[in-house]
Amino acid sequence: MTTLATEHSALLDWFPHQLFIGGAWREAGDGDRIDVLDPANGEPIASVSSGTVEDGIAAVDAAERALGTWAVVPPRERGEILRKAYELMTERAEDLALLIVLENGKALPDARAEVAYAAEFFRWYAEEAVRVIGSVQTAPKGTNRIVVNHLPIGVSVLVTPWNFPAAMATRKIGPALAAGCSVILKPASETPLSTLAVAHILTEAGVPDGVVNVVPSKRSGPVVGAMLDDPRVRKLSFTGSTEVGRTLLAAAAKTVVNCSMELGGNAPFIVFGDADVDDAVAGAMVAKMRNGGSACTAANRLYVHASVAEEFSAKLSAAMQALVVGRGSDDGVALGPLINASSQAKVDKLVKGTVAMGARILTGGELPGGAGYFYPATVLVDVPEGAPVLVEEIFGPVAPIVVFEDEDDAIRMANDTEYGLVAYLYTSDLARGMRVSERIESGMVGINRGVVSDPAAPFGGFKQSGLGREGGHEGLLEFTESQYVAVSW
Ligand code: NAP
Ligand code: MG
Repeated sequence: MTTLATEHSALLDWFPHQLFIGGAWREAGDGDRIDVLDPANGEPIASVSSGTVEDGIAAVDAAERALGTWAVVPPRERGEILRKAYELMTERAEDLALLIVLENGKALPDARAEVAYAAEFFRWYAEEAVRVIGSVQTAPKGTNRIVVNHLPIGVSVLVTPWNFPAAMATRKIGPALAAGCSVILKPASETPLSTLAVAHILTEAGVPDGVVNVVPSKRSGPVVGAMLDDPRVRKLSFTGSTEVGRTLLAAAAKTVVNCSMELGGNAPFIVFGDADVDDAVAGAMVAKMRNGGSACTAANRLYVHASVAEEFSAKLSAAMQALVVGRGSDDGVALGPLINASSQAKVDKLVKGTVAMGARILTGGELPGGAGYFYPATVLVDVPEGAPVLVEEIFGPVAPIVVFEDEDDAIRMANDTEYGLVAYLYTSDLARGMRVSERIESGMVGINRGVVSDPAAPFGGFKQSGLGREGGHEGLLEFTESQYVAVSW
Protein backbone atom coordinates (compact mmCIF):
# COMPACT_ATOMS: atom_id res chain seq x y z
CA MET A 1 0.00 0.00 0.00
CA THR A 2 1.34 3.43 -0.80
CA THR A 3 0.89 5.87 2.00
CA LEU A 4 0.76 9.63 1.84
CA ALA A 5 4.22 9.64 3.43
CA THR A 6 5.81 7.53 0.69
CA GLU A 7 4.03 9.45 -2.06
CA HIS A 8 5.26 12.71 -0.64
CA SER A 9 8.59 11.77 0.93
CA ALA A 10 10.12 15.05 -0.29
CA LEU A 11 7.62 16.78 1.92
CA LEU A 12 9.25 15.37 4.97
CA ASP A 13 12.83 15.96 3.92
CA TRP A 14 13.15 19.71 3.56
CA PHE A 15 13.54 20.45 7.29
CA PRO A 16 15.18 18.50 10.14
CA HIS A 17 13.04 16.51 12.58
CA GLN A 18 14.91 17.68 15.61
CA LEU A 19 14.90 20.29 18.33
CA PHE A 20 15.65 23.80 17.09
CA ILE A 21 17.62 25.71 19.74
CA GLY A 22 19.78 28.81 19.33
CA GLY A 23 19.67 28.52 15.53
CA ALA A 24 20.94 24.91 15.51
CA TRP A 25 19.10 21.65 14.94
CA ARG A 26 19.94 18.95 17.45
CA GLU A 27 18.88 15.70 19.07
CA ALA A 28 17.26 15.58 22.49
CA GLY A 29 19.71 15.28 25.40
CA ASP A 30 18.71 11.66 26.01
CA GLY A 31 18.08 10.79 22.34
CA ASP A 32 14.34 10.29 22.91
CA ARG A 33 11.96 10.69 19.96
CA ILE A 34 8.23 11.09 19.30
CA ASP A 35 6.54 8.92 16.65
CA VAL A 36 4.28 10.98 14.42
CA LEU A 37 1.35 8.96 13.04
CA ASP A 38 -0.87 9.35 9.98
CA PRO A 39 -4.40 9.48 11.46
CA ALA A 40 -5.80 8.04 8.21
CA ASN A 41 -4.22 4.65 8.96
CA GLY A 42 -2.48 4.96 12.34
CA GLU A 43 0.92 4.25 10.79
CA PRO A 44 4.13 6.10 11.71
CA ILE A 45 5.26 8.66 9.13
CA ALA A 46 8.20 10.28 10.91
CA SER A 47 9.90 10.60 14.25
CA VAL A 48 10.88 13.86 15.90
CA SER A 49 13.28 14.55 18.79
CA SER A 50 11.49 14.80 22.13
CA GLY A 51 13.14 17.39 24.36
CA THR A 52 14.14 16.90 27.99
CA VAL A 53 13.81 19.42 30.81
CA GLU A 54 17.48 20.35 30.21
CA ASP A 55 16.74 20.94 26.51
CA GLY A 56 13.87 23.23 27.52
CA ILE A 57 16.19 25.24 29.77
CA ALA A 58 18.84 25.34 27.00
CA ALA A 59 16.15 26.92 24.80
CA VAL A 60 15.46 29.51 27.52
CA ASP A 61 19.21 30.25 27.62
CA ALA A 62 19.22 30.75 23.83
CA ALA A 63 16.09 32.91 23.88
CA GLU A 64 17.51 35.02 26.73
CA ARG A 65 20.78 35.55 24.82
CA ALA A 66 18.93 36.59 21.66
CA LEU A 67 16.43 38.86 23.39
CA GLY A 68 18.66 41.91 23.99
CA THR A 69 19.64 42.31 20.35
CA TRP A 70 16.25 41.34 18.86
CA ALA A 71 14.36 43.81 21.04
CA VAL A 72 16.39 46.70 19.59
CA VAL A 73 16.27 45.61 15.93
CA PRO A 74 14.39 48.47 14.26
CA PRO A 75 10.66 47.66 14.10
CA ARG A 76 10.71 48.08 10.32
CA GLU A 77 13.39 45.39 10.02
CA ARG A 78 11.49 43.02 12.29
CA GLY A 79 8.43 43.66 10.15
CA GLU A 80 10.34 42.96 6.94
CA ILE A 81 11.54 39.60 8.25
CA LEU A 82 7.94 38.67 9.08
CA ARG A 83 6.84 39.85 5.65
CA LYS A 84 9.49 37.61 4.08
CA ALA A 85 8.23 34.69 6.17
CA TYR A 86 4.71 35.38 4.86
CA GLU A 87 6.01 35.26 1.28
CA LEU A 88 7.99 32.06 1.82
CA MET A 89 5.01 30.37 3.46
CA THR A 90 2.83 31.41 0.57
CA GLU A 91 5.35 30.02 -1.95
CA ARG A 92 5.44 26.72 -0.10
CA ALA A 93 1.70 26.67 0.62
CA GLU A 94 0.98 23.40 -1.16
CA ASP A 95 3.83 21.54 0.57
CA LEU A 96 2.77 22.89 3.93
CA ALA A 97 -0.85 21.92 3.30
CA LEU A 98 0.13 18.35 2.44
CA LEU A 99 2.34 18.20 5.50
CA ILE A 100 -0.61 19.25 7.66
CA VAL A 101 -2.78 16.57 6.03
CA LEU A 102 -0.08 14.01 6.69
CA GLU A 103 0.26 14.55 10.43
CA ASN A 104 -3.18 15.94 11.30
CA GLY A 105 -5.44 14.11 8.84
CA LYS A 106 -7.68 17.05 7.90
CA ALA A 107 -9.05 17.31 4.36
CA LEU A 108 -6.78 19.11 1.89
CA PRO A 109 -9.14 22.09 1.38
CA ASP A 110 -9.07 22.65 5.16
CA ALA A 111 -5.28 22.33 5.19
CA ARG A 112 -4.94 24.84 2.34
CA ALA A 113 -7.20 27.25 4.21
CA GLU A 114 -5.10 26.79 7.34
CA VAL A 115 -1.87 27.63 5.51
CA ALA A 116 -3.37 30.80 4.05
CA TYR A 117 -4.68 31.77 7.50
CA ALA A 118 -1.36 30.91 9.16
CA ALA A 119 0.71 32.93 6.68
CA GLU A 120 -1.65 35.87 7.11
CA PHE A 121 -0.56 36.25 10.75
CA PHE A 122 2.97 36.94 9.54
CA ARG A 123 1.69 39.52 7.06
CA TRP A 124 -0.57 41.20 9.62
CA TYR A 125 2.15 41.38 12.28
CA ALA A 126 4.71 42.55 9.69
CA GLU A 127 2.41 45.56 9.39
CA GLU A 128 1.78 45.88 13.15
CA ALA A 129 5.49 45.81 14.07
CA VAL A 130 5.78 49.51 13.19
CA ARG A 131 2.57 50.44 15.04
CA VAL A 132 3.40 49.87 18.69
CA ILE A 133 1.95 53.21 19.68
CA GLY A 134 2.12 54.60 23.22
CA SER A 135 0.63 57.80 24.61
CA VAL A 136 1.42 61.11 26.31
CA GLN A 137 -0.96 63.03 28.53
CA THR A 138 -0.84 65.82 31.05
CA ALA A 139 -1.40 64.62 34.62
CA PRO A 140 -4.72 65.90 36.02
CA LYS A 141 -2.86 68.08 38.53
CA GLY A 142 -0.88 69.66 35.71
CA THR A 143 2.41 68.87 37.45
CA ASN A 144 3.89 66.47 34.91
CA ARG A 145 3.37 64.37 31.82
CA ILE A 146 2.28 60.73 31.81
CA VAL A 147 4.20 58.91 29.08
CA VAL A 148 3.15 55.34 28.32
CA ASN A 149 5.38 53.08 26.28
CA HIS A 150 4.83 49.42 25.32
CA LEU A 151 8.05 47.45 25.83
CA PRO A 152 8.66 43.82 24.73
CA ILE A 153 7.61 41.55 27.58
CA GLY A 154 10.63 39.28 27.15
CA VAL A 155 11.26 35.57 26.75
CA SER A 156 7.95 33.92 25.87
CA VAL A 157 6.91 30.28 26.07
CA LEU A 158 4.35 29.29 23.44
CA VAL A 159 2.38 26.03 23.69
CA THR A 160 0.16 24.97 20.79
CA PRO A 161 -2.46 22.28 20.01
CA TRP A 162 -2.64 19.75 17.17
CA ASN A 163 -5.81 20.98 15.47
CA PHE A 164 -4.25 23.95 13.63
CA PRO A 165 -0.56 23.04 13.88
CA ALA A 166 0.67 25.84 11.59
CA ALA A 167 -1.80 28.63 12.36
CA MET A 168 -1.63 28.33 16.14
CA ALA A 169 2.16 28.65 15.86
CA THR A 170 2.14 31.71 13.59
CA ARG A 171 -0.65 33.37 15.60
CA LYS A 172 1.79 33.46 18.53
CA ILE A 173 5.18 33.81 16.81
CA GLY A 174 3.99 36.73 14.62
CA PRO A 175 3.00 39.12 17.42
CA ALA A 176 5.83 38.00 19.72
CA LEU A 177 8.47 38.78 17.10
CA ALA A 178 6.76 42.01 16.06
CA ALA A 179 6.84 43.16 19.69
CA GLY A 180 10.55 42.33 20.02
CA CYS A 181 10.29 39.14 22.08
CA SER A 182 12.15 35.85 21.69
CA VAL A 183 10.23 32.59 21.97
CA ILE A 184 10.38 28.89 22.79
CA LEU A 185 7.55 26.99 21.14
CA LYS A 186 6.39 23.58 22.28
CA PRO A 187 4.10 22.09 19.62
CA ALA A 188 1.55 19.33 20.28
CA SER A 189 3.16 15.90 20.22
CA GLU A 190 0.70 14.65 17.58
CA THR A 191 1.72 17.39 15.10
CA PRO A 192 5.27 18.71 15.57
CA LEU A 193 6.19 18.61 11.85
CA SER A 194 4.28 21.66 10.62
CA THR A 195 5.81 23.77 13.38
CA LEU A 196 9.33 22.62 12.53
CA ALA A 197 8.65 23.52 8.89
CA VAL A 198 7.52 26.99 9.97
CA ALA A 199 10.69 27.37 12.07
CA HIS A 200 12.77 26.42 9.03
CA ILE A 201 10.95 29.05 6.95
CA LEU A 202 11.58 31.67 9.64
CA THR A 203 15.33 31.03 9.47
CA GLU A 204 15.21 31.40 5.68
CA ALA A 205 13.37 34.68 6.22
CA GLY A 206 16.27 35.96 8.33
CA VAL A 207 15.14 35.49 11.94
CA PRO A 208 18.38 35.60 13.97
CA ASP A 209 19.58 32.58 15.96
CA GLY A 210 17.82 32.08 19.27
CA VAL A 211 14.86 34.36 18.55
CA VAL A 212 12.67 31.37 17.67
CA ASN A 213 13.35 28.01 19.36
CA VAL A 214 11.19 24.90 18.98
CA VAL A 215 11.21 22.10 21.55
CA PRO A 216 8.81 19.27 20.77
CA SER A 217 8.44 17.04 23.82
CA LYS A 218 6.17 14.28 24.93
CA ARG A 219 7.11 15.24 28.50
CA SER A 220 5.13 18.44 28.14
CA GLY A 221 4.26 18.90 31.83
CA PRO A 222 7.82 18.78 33.23
CA VAL A 223 9.40 20.62 30.29
CA VAL A 224 6.90 23.50 30.22
CA GLY A 225 6.80 23.51 34.04
CA ALA A 226 10.59 23.94 34.28
CA MET A 227 10.50 26.81 31.80
CA LEU A 228 7.73 28.55 33.78
CA ASP A 229 9.75 28.14 36.98
CA ASP A 230 12.67 29.94 35.35
CA PRO A 231 12.46 33.64 36.29
CA ARG A 232 13.85 34.64 32.87
CA VAL A 233 10.55 33.52 31.30
CA ARG A 234 8.04 36.38 31.38
CA LYS A 235 5.19 35.16 29.24
CA LEU A 236 3.13 32.04 28.58
CA SER A 237 0.87 31.98 25.54
CA PHE A 238 -1.10 28.74 25.52
CA THR A 239 -3.70 27.32 23.16
CA GLY A 240 -5.32 24.05 24.11
CA SER A 241 -7.88 22.51 26.39
CA THR A 242 -9.39 24.30 29.37
CA GLU A 243 -8.21 21.46 31.59
CA VAL A 244 -4.53 21.87 30.69
CA GLY A 245 -4.99 25.66 30.74
CA ARG A 246 -6.04 25.53 34.40
CA THR A 247 -2.96 23.44 35.26
CA LEU A 248 -0.68 25.89 33.50
CA LEU A 249 -2.29 28.93 35.15
CA ALA A 250 -1.55 27.32 38.50
CA ALA A 251 2.04 26.55 37.45
CA ALA A 252 2.51 30.11 36.19
CA ALA A 253 1.34 31.51 39.54
CA LYS A 254 4.59 30.52 41.26
CA THR A 255 6.68 33.03 39.33
CA VAL A 256 3.71 35.24 38.35
CA VAL A 257 4.24 34.65 34.63
CA ASN A 258 1.93 36.74 32.43
CA CYS A 259 -0.54 34.37 30.71
CA SER A 260 -2.59 34.48 27.52
CA MET A 261 -4.88 31.47 27.32
CA GLU A 262 -6.91 30.34 24.31
CA LEU A 263 -8.91 27.44 25.67
CA GLY A 264 -11.87 25.27 24.78
CA GLY A 265 -15.20 26.29 23.32
CA ASN A 266 -18.79 25.07 23.15
CA ALA A 267 -20.21 27.37 20.51
CA PRO A 268 -23.97 27.84 20.18
CA PHE A 269 -25.33 28.31 16.65
CA ILE A 270 -28.75 29.99 16.83
CA VAL A 271 -31.09 30.05 13.85
CA PHE A 272 -34.00 32.46 14.37
CA GLY A 273 -37.34 32.04 12.64
CA ASP A 274 -36.62 34.99 10.35
CA ALA A 275 -33.31 33.56 9.07
CA ASP A 276 -32.71 32.56 5.47
CA VAL A 277 -32.63 28.80 6.00
CA ASP A 278 -30.35 28.00 3.06
CA ASP A 279 -27.82 30.59 4.27
CA ALA A 280 -28.07 29.19 7.78
CA VAL A 281 -27.41 25.66 6.51
CA ALA A 282 -24.42 26.84 4.49
CA GLY A 283 -23.13 28.74 7.55
CA ALA A 284 -23.67 25.74 9.80
CA MET A 285 -21.68 23.54 7.42
CA VAL A 286 -18.72 25.91 7.83
CA ALA A 287 -19.16 26.58 11.56
CA LYS A 288 -19.57 22.88 12.29
CA MET A 289 -17.42 21.19 9.67
CA ARG A 290 -14.43 23.49 9.15
CA ASN A 291 -11.49 21.30 10.14
CA GLY A 292 -13.81 18.28 10.38
CA GLY A 293 -15.36 19.70 13.54
CA SER A 294 -11.98 19.70 15.34
CA ALA A 295 -11.98 23.42 16.06
CA CYS A 296 -12.38 25.38 19.28
CA THR A 297 -14.74 27.57 17.27
CA ALA A 298 -16.84 24.63 16.03
CA ALA A 299 -20.62 24.99 16.36
CA ASN A 300 -21.29 22.48 19.11
CA ARG A 301 -24.97 23.15 19.84
CA LEU A 302 -27.45 24.13 17.14
CA TYR A 303 -30.49 25.96 18.54
CA VAL A 304 -33.14 26.27 15.83
CA HIS A 305 -36.47 28.07 16.05
CA ALA A 306 -39.46 25.73 15.91
CA SER A 307 -40.84 27.42 12.76
CA VAL A 308 -37.78 26.43 10.66
CA ALA A 309 -36.46 23.44 12.59
CA GLU A 310 -37.76 20.73 10.29
CA GLU A 311 -36.55 22.38 7.10
CA PHE A 312 -33.16 23.26 8.63
CA SER A 313 -32.61 19.76 10.03
CA ALA A 314 -33.48 18.06 6.75
CA LYS A 315 -31.27 20.34 4.67
CA LEU A 316 -28.35 20.14 7.10
CA SER A 317 -28.65 16.39 7.19
CA ALA A 318 -28.56 16.18 3.38
CA ALA A 319 -25.49 18.43 3.22
CA MET A 320 -23.70 16.41 5.91
CA GLN A 321 -24.53 13.11 4.23
CA ALA A 322 -23.05 14.40 0.95
CA LEU A 323 -19.59 14.95 2.46
CA VAL A 324 -17.03 12.47 1.19
CA VAL A 325 -15.11 10.88 4.06
CA GLY A 326 -11.59 9.60 3.46
CA ARG A 327 -7.87 10.21 3.52
CA GLY A 328 -7.46 13.97 3.62
CA SER A 329 -5.39 14.27 0.45
CA ASP A 330 -7.64 12.12 -1.76
CA ASP A 331 -9.65 13.86 -4.48
CA GLY A 332 -13.02 15.16 -3.38
CA VAL A 333 -12.56 14.26 0.29
CA ALA A 334 -14.18 16.83 2.57
CA LEU A 335 -13.90 15.02 5.89
CA GLY A 336 -10.71 13.36 7.08
CA PRO A 337 -10.12 11.25 10.18
CA LEU A 338 -10.07 12.45 13.77
CA ILE A 339 -6.63 12.93 15.30
CA ASN A 340 -6.34 9.70 17.28
CA ALA A 341 -8.16 6.67 18.66
CA SER A 342 -9.15 8.38 21.89
CA SER A 343 -10.79 11.30 20.04
CA GLN A 344 -12.69 8.79 17.90
CA ALA A 345 -13.81 6.86 20.99
CA LYS A 346 -14.86 10.08 22.73
CA VAL A 347 -17.05 11.21 19.82
CA ASP A 348 -18.63 7.77 19.57
CA LYS A 349 -19.35 7.76 23.31
CA LEU A 350 -20.93 11.23 23.21
CA VAL A 351 -23.25 10.20 20.37
CA LYS A 352 -24.21 6.90 22.00
CA GLY A 353 -24.84 8.60 25.35
CA THR A 354 -27.05 11.20 23.68
CA VAL A 355 -29.04 8.61 21.72
CA ALA A 356 -29.53 6.70 24.99
CA MET A 357 -31.19 9.87 26.35
CA GLY A 358 -33.73 9.88 23.49
CA ALA A 359 -32.02 11.73 20.62
CA ARG A 360 -32.57 10.52 17.04
CA ILE A 361 -29.86 10.15 14.39
CA LEU A 362 -30.75 11.80 11.05
CA THR A 363 -27.49 10.82 9.42
CA GLY A 364 -24.18 9.23 10.48
CA GLY A 365 -23.73 7.98 14.03
CA GLU A 366 -22.10 4.67 13.03
CA LEU A 367 -18.47 4.02 13.94
CA PRO A 368 -16.85 2.65 10.76
CA GLY A 369 -14.63 -0.43 10.92
CA GLY A 370 -11.14 -0.55 9.43
CA ALA A 371 -7.96 1.44 9.83
CA GLY A 372 -7.79 5.14 10.66
CA TYR A 373 -9.70 7.25 13.13
CA PHE A 374 -12.72 8.07 10.97
CA TYR A 375 -16.16 9.17 12.11
CA PRO A 376 -19.00 10.08 9.74
CA ALA A 377 -20.75 13.45 9.55
CA THR A 378 -23.62 13.08 12.00
CA VAL A 379 -26.81 15.02 12.74
CA LEU A 380 -28.81 14.44 15.93
CA VAL A 381 -32.31 15.79 16.62
CA ASP A 382 -34.59 15.68 19.67
CA VAL A 383 -31.50 16.26 21.79
CA PRO A 384 -32.58 16.81 25.40
CA GLU A 385 -31.10 19.64 27.49
CA GLY A 386 -28.21 18.34 29.59
CA ALA A 387 -27.23 15.65 27.07
CA PRO A 388 -23.45 15.06 27.17
CA VAL A 389 -23.05 16.17 23.56
CA LEU A 390 -24.31 19.66 24.55
CA VAL A 391 -22.15 19.94 27.65
CA GLU A 392 -18.76 18.72 26.44
CA GLU A 393 -16.66 19.98 23.57
CA ILE A 394 -17.41 17.43 20.79
CA PHE A 395 -14.33 18.11 18.64
CA GLY A 396 -15.78 16.01 15.84
CA PRO A 397 -18.29 16.02 12.97
CA VAL A 398 -21.45 15.83 15.06
CA ALA A 399 -24.25 18.42 14.92
CA PRO A 400 -26.82 18.19 17.74
CA ILE A 401 -30.02 20.17 17.06
CA VAL A 402 -32.22 21.60 19.83
CA VAL A 403 -35.52 23.35 19.02
CA PHE A 404 -36.47 26.61 20.80
CA GLU A 405 -39.57 28.79 20.88
CA ASP A 406 -38.50 32.19 22.14
CA GLU A 407 -35.46 34.41 22.06
CA ASP A 408 -34.91 34.53 25.83
CA ASP A 409 -34.90 30.78 25.98
CA ALA A 410 -32.33 30.52 23.18
CA ILE A 411 -30.08 33.02 24.97
CA ARG A 412 -30.43 31.21 28.29
CA MET A 413 -29.47 27.86 26.71
CA ALA A 414 -26.63 29.43 24.71
CA ASN A 415 -25.12 30.87 27.92
CA ASP A 416 -25.60 27.70 29.93
CA THR A 417 -21.95 26.58 29.68
CA GLU A 418 -18.62 27.25 31.37
CA TYR A 419 -17.25 28.19 27.93
CA GLY A 420 -17.61 31.50 26.08
CA LEU A 421 -15.46 31.52 22.97
CA VAL A 422 -17.78 32.15 20.02
CA ALA A 423 -21.47 32.15 19.11
CA TYR A 424 -23.18 32.21 15.72
CA LEU A 425 -26.53 33.88 15.03
CA TYR A 426 -28.64 33.66 11.89
CA THR A 427 -31.38 36.26 11.48
CA SER A 428 -32.52 38.66 8.78
CA ASP A 429 -33.10 41.28 11.49
CA LEU A 430 -29.74 42.89 12.19
CA ALA A 431 -31.13 44.79 15.19
CA ARG A 432 -32.06 41.45 16.72
CA GLY A 433 -28.60 40.13 15.89
CA MET A 434 -26.89 43.02 17.69
CA ARG A 435 -29.30 42.91 20.64
CA VAL A 436 -28.80 39.18 21.15
CA SER A 437 -25.00 39.46 20.67
CA GLU A 438 -24.74 41.77 23.67
CA ARG A 439 -26.52 39.23 25.85
CA ILE A 440 -24.39 36.28 24.73
CA GLU A 441 -21.42 35.61 27.00
CA SER A 442 -18.80 35.00 24.36
CA GLY A 443 -15.69 36.75 23.12
CA MET A 444 -16.73 36.51 19.48
CA VAL A 445 -20.05 36.50 17.65
CA GLY A 446 -20.69 35.69 13.99
CA ILE A 447 -23.91 37.20 12.64
CA ASN A 448 -25.01 35.50 9.42
CA ARG A 449 -21.49 34.07 9.15
CA GLY A 450 -20.15 30.61 9.92
CA VAL A 451 -16.57 31.75 10.43
CA VAL A 452 -15.16 34.59 12.53
CA SER A 453 -11.40 33.87 12.57
CA ASP A 454 -9.43 36.75 11.07
CA PRO A 455 -5.81 37.72 11.82
CA ALA A 456 -6.92 41.36 11.94
CA ALA A 457 -9.51 40.75 14.68
CA PRO A 458 -9.12 40.03 18.41
CA PHE A 459 -9.74 36.31 18.89
CA GLY A 460 -10.46 35.00 22.39
CA GLY A 461 -12.97 33.90 24.95
CA PHE A 462 -15.05 34.91 27.96
CA LYS A 463 -15.43 32.68 31.01
CA GLN A 464 -13.37 29.46 30.95
CA SER A 465 -12.56 29.81 27.26
CA GLY A 466 -9.55 31.90 28.12
CA LEU A 467 -7.71 35.07 29.00
CA GLY A 468 -6.44 37.70 26.59
CA ARG A 469 -6.77 37.95 22.81
CA GLU A 470 -4.79 36.82 19.78
CA GLY A 471 -4.77 38.59 16.44
CA GLY A 472 -5.53 42.24 15.76
CA HIS A 473 -3.69 44.96 17.64
CA GLU A 474 -4.61 43.36 20.98
CA GLY A 475 -2.62 40.28 20.04
CA LEU A 476 0.53 42.37 19.80
CA LEU A 477 -0.07 44.11 23.13
CA GLU A 478 -0.20 40.67 24.82
CA PHE A 479 3.55 40.47 24.18
CA THR A 480 4.31 43.87 25.71
CA GLU A 481 4.44 45.43 29.16
CA SER A 482 3.12 48.97 29.52
CA GLN A 483 5.66 51.21 31.13
CA TYR A 484 4.52 54.56 32.46
CA VAL A 485 7.03 57.33 32.98
CA ALA A 486 6.05 60.34 35.11
CA VAL A 487 8.11 63.19 33.75
CA SER A 488 8.43 66.82 34.63
CA TRP A 489 10.11 69.24 32.31
P1 NAP B 1 -4.26 19.91 25.06
O1 NAP B 1 -4.28 18.48 25.36
O2 NAP B 1 -4.64 20.89 26.10
O3 NAP B 1 -2.79 20.21 24.54
C1 NAP B 1 -2.39 21.47 24.08
C2 NAP B 1 -0.90 21.61 24.22
O4 NAP B 1 -0.56 21.57 25.60
C3 NAP B 1 -0.09 20.51 23.55
O5 NAP B 1 1.10 21.07 23.06
C4 NAP B 1 0.20 19.58 24.71
O6 NAP B 1 1.35 18.81 24.54
C5 NAP B 1 0.41 20.57 25.83
N1 NAP B 1 0.21 20.03 27.16
C6 NAP B 1 -0.60 19.02 27.55
N2 NAP B 1 -0.50 18.84 28.88
C7 NAP B 1 0.39 19.75 29.34
C8 NAP B 1 0.91 20.07 30.62
N3 NAP B 1 0.54 19.41 31.71
N4 NAP B 1 1.82 21.05 30.71
C9 NAP B 1 2.21 21.73 29.62
N5 NAP B 1 1.75 21.49 28.38
C10 NAP B 1 0.84 20.51 28.24
O7 NAP B 1 -5.17 20.28 23.82
P2 NAP B 1 -5.24 19.52 22.43
O8 NAP B 1 -5.91 18.23 22.68
O9 NAP B 1 -3.91 19.51 21.79
O10 NAP B 1 -6.14 20.53 21.59
C11 NAP B 1 -7.51 20.58 21.67
C12 NAP B 1 -7.99 21.69 22.60
O11 NAP B 1 -7.45 22.94 22.20
C13 NAP B 1 -9.47 21.88 22.57
O12 NAP B 1 -9.99 22.02 23.87
C14 NAP B 1 -9.65 23.17 21.79
O13 NAP B 1 -10.85 23.85 22.05
C15 NAP B 1 -8.47 23.94 22.19
N6 NAP B 1 -8.18 24.98 21.20
C16 NAP B 1 -8.46 26.26 21.53
C17 NAP B 1 -8.22 27.26 20.62
C18 NAP B 1 -8.51 28.69 20.99
O14 NAP B 1 -7.99 29.56 20.32
N7 NAP B 1 -9.30 28.98 22.00
C19 NAP B 1 -7.68 26.97 19.37
C20 NAP B 1 -7.42 25.63 19.06
C21 NAP B 1 -7.67 24.65 20.00
P3 NAP B 1 1.28 17.24 24.18
O15 NAP B 1 0.67 17.16 22.84
O16 NAP B 1 2.69 16.82 24.20
O17 NAP B 1 0.42 16.62 25.23
MG1 MG C 1 -3.49 16.31 23.86
